[in-house]
Amino acid sequence: MLISMNAISDAMTDALRFAGTVSGGVNASYIPYLASVPSDLLGLAVVTVDGQVASMGDADYRFAIESISKVFTLCNVIDQIGADGVQQKVGADPTGLPFNSVIALELHGGKPLSPLVNAGAIATASLVEGETPDRRWNAILNTQSRFAGRAIPLSDEVNQSEQTTNFHNRAIAWLLYSAGACYSDPMEAVDIYTRQCSTLVSAVDLATMGACLANGGVNPVTQERVLAEKHVQPVLAEMMMEGLYTSSGDFAYQVGLPGKSGVGGGLLAVAPGRLAVAAFSPPLDEAGNSVRGVAAVSHFARALGLSVFAHR
Ligand code: GLU
Repeated sequence: MLISMNAISDAMTDALRFAGTVSGGVNASYIPYLASVPSDLLGLAVVTVDGQVASMGDADYRFAIESISKVFTLCNVIDQIGADGVQQKVGADPTGLPFNSVIALELHGGKPLSPLVNAGAIATASLVEGETPDRRWNAILNTQSRFAGRAIPLSDEVNQSEQTTNFHNRAIAWLLYSAGACYSDPMEAVDIYTRQCSTLVSAVDLATMGACLANGGVNPVTQERVLAEKHVQPVLAEMMMEGLYTSSGDFAYQVGLPGKSGVGGGLLAVAPGRLAVAAFSPPLDEAGNSVRGVAAVSHFARALGLSVFAHR
């Protein structure tokens, strides 16, 4: 059942007002660029499955997509090798451990389990088809752009900041490789993965990208099919299980929507058949989720009764 834009707008206003009263969290600092983004930015955007767009606050501010990119590289690869292929080569289970955990890998014989943690995302990036590294990178960027309905840019500044500090991710890639779970040159996989995290999106872009998933794989603004319909459900299932780091279970319990956050302060949640909502606010909680982003999206989803577990 579609929700009126008036109801959406009222719920957004309330959610933003509520999130504005919430404090706490700090910008990610392990990537130098992220520490420099103004902490008081707060934006909220909604895109419905019939292509309507609503935005408030700093919803047009462009920030680093970071971990949210993992969803769209997964979309790219699941369309190439199928849901079973992803499950077999990467896995499809939550790790219960932090997003960059080496212990999670060691506990499972080098298999990353989820495409939405760093190890699994690097393995997923290594599976993107293309004859050269440039073509593989362009396939990922093109997927982000088709979901967003506009050309998504790579930020050289964010990319430089990450490429010169991503030693932990390089270690993960070598561990994957030694376990037979990295399917290209490991340093190339990390390079591509790091670039995919370094593109700039706004909350409106993220909501549009999520709305493609809410709409069965068709971008509701451009009308382009960006993902096979049969692959939408496994992607959303993965987001529900592992999208909000070690708080994924809490978010499912309290909000009941598949979501994905990134250490750049972005948060996306998808209400299948209805809409996607995206928030942006840089300060993060200890798990890595935007404090005000979670507050805004939770408030909005509850006000409109969006949980996928609701019986109507
Ligand atoms: N580029 C970041 C990393 O690999 C992304 C982390 C995230 O947003 O969770 O550490």
